[in-house]
Amino acid sequence: MSTKLPLNADLHCHSIVSDGTLTPEELALRAHKNGVQLWALTDHDVLGGQERARLAAENLGMSYLSGVEISISWMSQTVHIVGLGVDHTNAVLEEGLRATRDGREERARQMAAQLDQVGIKNSYEGALHFAGNPELIARTHFARFLVEKKVCSSMDEVFRKYLVAGKPGYVSHRWASLDEAVGWIRGAGGEAVIAHPGRYKLNTMQMDELYSRFKDLGGAGIEVVTGSHSPDQYLTYAKVAQRFGFMASRGSDFHDPHESDIDLGNLPLLPEHLKPIWSVFH
Ligand code: AMP
Ligand code: MN
Ligand code: MN
Ligand code: MN
Repeated sequence: MSTKLPLNADLHCHSIVSDGTLTPEELALRAHKNGVQLWALTDHDVLGGQERARLAAENLGMSYLSGVEISISWMSQTVHIVGLGVDHTNAVLEEGLRATRDGREERARQMAAQLDQVGIKNSYEGALHFAGNPELIARTHFARFLVEKKVCSSMDEVFRKYLVAGKPGYVSHRWASLDEAVGWIRGAGGEAVIAHPGRYKLNTMQMDELYSRFKDLGGAGIEVVTGSHSPDQYLTYAKVAQRFGFMASRGSDFHDPHESDIDLGNLPLLPEHLKPIWSVFH
């Protein structure tokens, strides 16, 4: 496999080990069927699916990069940093992720208490029922519960009416820092990538500060083509990549066949003038 060609790389998705609904094996099969040539499973704050994902990919003859998506707090907002090519047995990375996961249970209980106050009962248990990994209880699991209970008709509606700042079920949370996340990823031999930059509620100056600090820490890339960017945003973030000297990444952020608009491997390829993040992995 030449790593320099614009190959069908999908370097961002989630399994039942975090807040996806498919197993690592099911995801590998789906990616392969959809023509993915280089794949990474990037569960939130957890590496428990990495061995299964790599083995499944290898059995299908599909190239694999280990991955993780780390939740960080930056200027009072949650930002996600993807780590690619990390050694998933690295003790410092593992410990950092464990600490990042640790607050999730208490946060979920507080979310449930708020939902209880607006008449939505037993949402902690309800969300837990959807969580393949109880250590990784996420807003996604609460959202699935609210759709199941017909409180909302879609995940989008949930994330407009609940679980977001100013709405019931939102609990602000202190995640890892940018410095920690990039340090853990690089310390484990990987490359750090800013996930879906178009999603953050940060102004231009704050985003520029994020890019600069990330670059200073040794951050290597940003997602340009992702499931949550519009075609206009592909252009916007292609320019950011060039301006800051970042390599570009591509990933669907696939979670579930019914919930996710974009399937594994189905996004447009990266613009050819950008240097793909996978060019550093040989
Ligand atoms: P958490 O890490 O618990 O804060 O949960 C964040 C997760 O919620 C993200 O990884 C997404 O899977 C999901 N999420 C956030 N916003 C939306 C949205 N607008 N639509 C669907 N899922 C979302
Ligand atoms: Mn998610
Ligand atoms: Mn994310
Ligand atoms: Mn994601």
